[in-house]
Amino acid sequence: MEKFATVDADGLRARVEQLLAEHDPAGDRLAFLQARFDAGLAWVHYPPGLGGLGAPRELQSVVDDALAAAGAPDNDPRRIGIGLGMAAPTILVHGTDEQRRRWLRPLWTGEEVWCQLFSEPGAGSDLAALGTRAVREQDSWIVNGQKVWTSMAHEARWAILVTRTDPSVPKHAGMTYFACDMTAPGVEVRPLRQITGEAEFNEVFLTDVRIPDEYRLGDVGNGWRVAQTTLMNERVAIGGGAAPRESGTIAAVCRTWRERPELRTPAGHAELMRLWVEAEALRLTGLRLRQQLAVGAPGPEGSAAKLSYARLNQAVSGFELDLLGDEALRYDDWSTGTWATKRPAAVDFLARSPGYRYLRAKGNSIEGGTSEILRNIIAERVLGLPGEPRVDKDVPWKDLPK
Ligand SMILES: Cc1cc2nc3c(=O)[nH]c(=O)nc-3n(C[C@H](O)[C@H](O)[C@H](O)COP(=O)(O)OP(=O)(O)OC[C@H]3O[C@@H](n4cnc5c(N)ncnc54)[C@H](O)[C@@H]3O)c2cc1C
Repeated sequence: MEKFATVDADGLRARVEQLLAEHDPAGDRLAFLQARFDAGLAWVHYPPGLGGLGAPRELQSVVDDALAAAGAPDNDPRRIGIGLGMAAPTILVHGTDEQRRRWLRPLWTGEEVWCQLFSEPGAGSDLAALGTRAVREQDSWIVNGQKVWTSMAHEARWAILVTRTDPSVPKHAGMTYFACDMTAPGVEVRPLRQITGEAEFNEVFLTDVRIPDEYRLGDVGNGWRVAQTTLMNERVAIGGGAAPRESGTIAAVCRTWRERPELRTPAGHAELMRLWVEAEALRLTGLRLRQQLAVGAPGPEGSAAKLSYARLNQAVSGFELDLLGDEALRYDDWSTGTWATKRPAAVDFLARSPGYRYLRAKGNSIEGGTSEILRNIIAERVLGLPGEPRVDKDVPWKDLPK
């Protein structure tokens, strides 16, 4: 990847001025986002030609702040979070030039939503156990299998997909990574109901789906390494975002605290203070993580951020429920429509009720790697403690008990 450190904050501000002079931020939203991408102001640390300028990553806020002040549209990162947080960095590192040019622009503008076809009924935490088969047929691969818990599959145009291409070698060695066209014949998306009452994720059945070899990311058999890039970035995307002080769920509960003096108690005050401080510590850790990212790929620190985020979000949403008492039990989403038609296009904690926040936060300690698995990663890779015994390391995948 190209890296230029020659673009500084003033240079970026000048480029933003030029973009605003040439493209009306109040005009067509998509046209503006496309122009922003083409000006290298989408993700400034990406290479020129791919929405960036090879600038230091931490200068992104210079662009974002200037454009927000001018009332320019943003690219709605919640709806396209999987594309931005996971697919894009994977395509950037492992894709060919052709693949990067084809996929990154519509991904960033939100024209094409991406989902992640990783988990299977028998392969979640142990992702390398997966059994979805891809068999080569001339210039294509024929894919058969079932994926599960696929967020946003009902909205997605593309998926990142990990498959088994060689069952005769140990599980980590026989996997290959693809981009899958979700509109291809044989891709079937079925809603799965969540504790919130909605169906934000899905089962995805793949039956004789033909994937051209040109959609392969990385070498045949190298899918595990490519998937590691995705997973490392996933943890940072979930847990290490740059956020202003007192934002997210802690902002919602602080607002209630300020506006509703009748709910306050000394014990509640102590608890809120404790959670606020924890949220601030996590926010600052996230900032440090992003600074580290400016000089390299995410490391296992992202796992610590994701673990803390999940724990804190559950604690804060639980506190909000206690604070509001019966009032918090009012929950609107069960009463109207059927669950299969309630298919959110984004997980938006702040736009929803305290009841929703509490229920949806339960998934935070499962999605993107469970808290138990993240603790294992921290123990082994950060603290250097002895690893779990891995008895299946050298056994061919086909001989593993299923
Ligand atoms: C809201 C939500 C959205 C999701 N979106 C997606 C998506 O878009 N795409 C996708 O591919 N997947 C998605 N997932 C799936 C998610 O990544 C998996 O659920 C997760 O990796 C756990 O896998 P599992 O459900 O198979 O549980 P299992 O792996 O069966 O784990 C069950 C329990 O055992 C524990 N456990 C397992 N192994 C160990 C171990 N070695 N040491 C200690 N404890 C262990 C786990 O921590 C867990 O508590 C989503 C999940 C949720 C909840």
